[in-house]
Amino acid sequence: MEETERNVKKDVTHNLVWHTMEISRKMREDHMKQKAFTIWMSGLSGAGKSTIANALEKRLYAMGKKTMLLDGDNVRMGLNSNLGFSDEDRVENIRRIAEVAKLMNDAGLIVITAFISPYRHDRENAKQIIGDEFREVYVSTSIEECEKRDVKGLYKAAREGKIAQFTGITSPYEVPEHADVVIDTAEMDVETCVNHILEQLKELLQESK
Ligand code: ADP
Repeated sequence: MEETERNVKKDVTHNLVWHTMEISRKMREDHMKQKAFTIWMSGLSGAGKSTIANALEKRLYAMGKKTMLLDGDNVRMGLNSNLGFSDEDRVENIRRIAEVAKLMNDAGLIVITAFISPYRHDRENAKQIIGDEFREVYVSTSIEECEKRDVKGLYKAAREGKIAQFTGITSPYEVPEHADVVIDTAEMDVETCVNHILEQLKELLQESK
């Protein structure tokens, strides 16, 4: 992809030229009276990402915010149904989610994503795609706690060797080093976790009210 003097993106190989839309992101945000951004939640399976993401979205909804929630299994059942859990597919899984989050941000929506997203490099890539309005929430619940909960029975299956490349057991989880918010759901109840996230993101939420 190259940028011309007029700041028009071009992909010469594929004869593509970016079409500039007359209704800008800023106009869409103003229309919705909010600042669009993405809350990217990462953590082990069972850490509490989906639970917190849902509770957080309900609170934002009650505040009158226009939101969308992208959740791991749901996206894997649709948009990414052709992807598995190999390293290559995990990269593509996160890339597509980030592109969708970006499109939704461009439409003016506040997006919450809840994916394990275990690799630092992939989260960095997501940040590159989404841009300045990317906020990382690390759900830091320990593997011992996640395994004890074993909500979906996946840890048991992974320990029995029935699931290959299971994050935290046979596949790595790279801890975020510069997360904007860190929450451990073993120490805080759902409401407290949501309050903590809202408190940390209040500047963005107050913009363009
Ligand atoms: P993930 O999306 O990270 O895989 P889930 O949200 O699906 O995790 O599962 C987390 C489990 O932990 C749920 O069964 C939830 O009820 C439980 N849980 C217990 N305490 C908390 C808490 N404070 N925050 C979030 N989940 C909690």
